[in-house]
Amino acid sequence: MDKVIYMDNAATTQTYPEVVEAMTPYFTEYYGNPSSIYSFAGESKKAVEDARKTIADFIGAKPEEIYFTGGGSESDNWALKATAEAYASKGKHIITSSIEHHAILHTCEYLERNGYEITYLDVDEYGTVNPEDVEKAIRPDTILISVMTANNEIGTIEPIKEIGEIAKKHGVLFHTDAVQALGHIPINVDDMNIDMLSASGHKINGPKGIGIMYIRKGVKIGSFIHGGAQERKRRAGTHNVPGIVGIGKAVELAAKNMESRMEKETKLRNHLIERVLAEIPYSRLNGHRENRLPNNANFCFRFIEGESMLILLDQNGVCGSSGSACTSGSLDPSHVLLAIGLPHEIAHGSLRLTISEKNTMEEVDYTVDKLKEIIERLRSMSPLYEDFVKKEKKEVQ
Ligand SMILES: *Cc1c(COP(=O)(O)O)cnc(C)c1O
Repeated sequence: MDKVIYMDNAATTQTYPEVVEAMTPYFTEYYGNPSSIYSFAGESKKAVEDARKTIADFIGAKPEEIYFTGGGSESDNWALKATAEAYASKGKHIITSSIEHHAILHTCEYLERNGYEITYLDVDEYGTVNPEDVEKAIRPDTILISVMTANNEIGTIEPIKEIGEIAKKHGVLFHTDAVQALGHIPINVDDMNIDMLSASGHKINGPKGIGIMYIRKGVKIGSFIHGGAQERKRRAGTHNVPGIVGIGKAVELAAKNMESRMEKETKLRNHLIERVLAEIPYSRLNGHRENRLPNNANFCFRFIEGESMLILLDQNGVCGSSGSACTSGSLDPSHVLLAIGLPHEIAHGSLRLTISEKNTMEEVDYTVDKLKEIIERLRSMSPLYEDFVKKEKKEVQ
């Protein structure tokens, strides 16, 4: 195959041509600053407000509860740092999980260095946070619970509704990083008692560098980026109008076809998982078998070093990842795989394949065929594997 088989949609997605088309006039024709008075700027202002309404409708929020940011990382930083600051007089304790994205975890570490106390909840073998653990961790000085909607590495969907109920019952704010979940599974901020939510354009076929932050009315957090009076004085900086139009269009498309997308991706993913587990010895699926994002598959292969597998897949035109794009390049095994209880040597041999609705069954089959060859080849060069096979044979005799 000459063309690239892209299976790293958790790292980023294609900006859909319809999205680019919707954005283009806001670079070249309607380039006015939405904060300006003259009517020429009215077009840009209207486009921003239309996108805000589309997004609000999609998650069951009010338009004035949607803020535009520079991406998922900024929204996560904002939620944590601004809540910490605004509610410091109530307390300095925050609850999160040990498998959050680094935009959350590294922000928590920053807060720890500044006098806050963080509880990192353990997860079970599938990467699920237990709502009872959340409740047990709440103290009188707890000001925030932040648990992701779905994990970016192993795809596990968290019990957000239950956690939201507990947060509400105890009068603690609840934030969720929904960057991987928005557009892939249904989300409603009222049903789920979500007070703050982060999402990102480039993970849902929108442009890079644009994010969403939902802040429920009544949550008293301040600005994170200081400057002008944009976004009701809560997020300074000239509106990224094309980006906002793009994320609005991406959400509109996601809302329209979420069900068919879920169905298609689930079918491809199940086929991928079933073939790998049946045809590749000493492989395991990471994350929950059913309760996972429709597009996510994450495996460990014993006696395999993740990086070499990725390089050989790349030589065959397949884009995958060994965890999250943010940790690739470092040799540390994924904190998520360690948190679900995998030993270092197994966590090193991980492969994440995240498909899209545009992948085909043929591509999935080609990928599994190549993966089988690659793993056989790598294992044939591994002295550890050779010893292991010898031992197994002896045991059978
Ligand atoms: C990608 C990602 C982010 C960061 O979003 P950016 O828009 O790339 O800053 C945060 N959280 C999760 C779960 C992600 O997958």
